[in-house]
Amino acid sequence: MVGSPDPSGCFRRSVRLFMKAVPNSCDVLVIGGGPAGSSAATHLAQAGFDVVLLERAVFPRNQVGESLIPHIWKFTDMTGVSEKIEQECFLAKAGSITVWNDKIHQILFSDFGYTRPGLHVERDIFDDILLKHAESCGAQVFNEVTVKKFDFSDSQWPKIFYTDKRGHSNHESTIRCQYVIDASGHSSFLANQFKVRQTISTQLNFLSLWGYFENARFVGVDRKSYSTEALTTVKPVTFVMSFEDGWVWHIVLRGKTSVGLIVPSERTRGMDRQQREVFFKQTCASLPHLNKLLEPARFIEGSLQFRPDYSYYSNKICGENYYCIGDAAAFVDPIFSHGVQNAFYNAAAATLAIKESLKNKKHRLRYSQLCESRMQQFYGFSRSLSLGEFGSNGINPGLVKNLMRLLPQLELELILVASETTNRSENFRRLAREAGVLGQFEENFSGRKTERIGALDF
Ligand SMILES: Cc1cc2nc3c(=O)[nH]c(=O)nc-3n(C[C@H](O)[C@H](O)[C@H](O)COP(=O)(O)OP(=O)(O)OC[C@H]3O[C@@H](n4cnc5c(N)ncnc54)[C@H](O)[C@@H]3O)c2cc1C
Repeated sequence: MVGSPDPSGCFRRSVRLFMKAVPNSCDVLVIGGGPAGSSAATHLAQAGFDVVLLERAVFPRNQVGESLIPHIWKFTDMTGVSEKIEQECFLAKAGSITVWNDKIHQILFSDFGYTRPGLHVERDIFDDILLKHAESCGAQVFNEVTVKKFDFSDSQWPKIFYTDKRGHSNHESTIRCQYVIDASGHSSFLANQFKVRQTISTQLNFLSLWGYFENARFVGVDRKSYSTEALTTVKPVTFVMSFEDGWVWHIVLRGKTSVGLIVPSERTRGMDRQQREVFFKQTCASLPHLNKLLEPARFIEGSLQFRPDYSYYSNKICGENYYCIGDAAAFVDPIFSHGVQNAFYNAAAATLAIKESLKNKKHRLRYSQLCESRMQQFYGFSRSLSLGEFGSNGINPGLVKNLMRLLPQLELELILVASETTNRSENFRRLAREAGVLGQFEENFSGRKTERIGALDF
């Protein structure tokens, strides 16, 4: 029978003949095709460098993290992918409503001068657009190829070992490159092998559980709840709410709604998958507001996923021949939807350093050190904003304060306002006060840009 696999492996070999082979060498090897890896590959390919990206999954692949803030547009403009994102017509989000310890705040991006919206995206589609864009710009992208280990003994030409699983094969080989970008997400390929990845705090041992519902109601920009038919006329907001020792998100998408819980791992310790699903559904049903939104909804069976290993950072993310970016470098509680923006920022910073290093190898160590401090600054900023009293681990306060002083006024105001909506930002507000930006903000703007709401209309 034509095309049927045979035990001798002839079929696999003949399939492999038609597949484009992974080259033996390149300027830059990127591990992982999420937002960090694909945008890094795009930046470098656009600058004319020879980039190979190895991705272990088959795209489109599922991913969590569906709420995007408008800050992403400046990065997608840089890589020229904004138009392709716009053409997909993802849901435009106007802002957020946060119910935290019974205080309700609404933030609208338009109040801060943002002319482009945030987005609620299906990440499989969004990430696929980014990866295809990288390929269309000249990056060589290979799905189903898993990076296994590395050999940095020749610092000029590191060697990467991978397994190519295309065509049902398990072909092992190597590729040499001048620079490695680790964008492998939470598996933190390099940081784990270098043993530099650290959990932020043992007290911050959280677990995220998320699943999808059909037919849930959504929260509109006018704070009322609507059935999904109204999405054609009413802009949604991301809905976030605290409870006991955790918090929950509700993000309406096209055709389904993403709901996720962040809880101390202790709460689900010893539970199997089924018990976690019961815990998830019961918690959702017990929370005010959320239970109203989910009243008419149906849980999509089998959609529950969870992720432990919640908040981590690495104290060295750049070396003279490698750069760890996105979640491969650090992960910050996603309460302010910073993840994809951080991935884009890191990709831009790392590729700038690599481009300069490829032109002028003599200074490559210096470029990597500069990049390290930029990326640690950005992570420190996000971490102090999102992790409450635990957020000081691994942060260089001086760097964070400098960034606060350099931010455009409206961007700073939006973040300062966001920092008032939960009790997570003590460190951030302390640093902002020390940097001299908080007092100025409180004098001039307090109360003008954030709306404290008495109640929700559902
Ligand atoms: C519960 C939760 C909620 C979140 N909510 C939000 C949100 O609302 N908004 C937001 O902006 N962010 C959110 N995030 C964060 C966001 O999802 C991530 O920050 C973002 O996906 C990081 O992109 P990345 O490219 O670094 O990693 P990923 O998107 O994880 O991509 C990494 C890729 O590397 C591949 N890979 C891994 N190992 C290998 C290997 N050895 N070889 C080859 N390929 C490999 C993987 O298959 C994957 O495709 C959330 C995260 C969590 C956990």
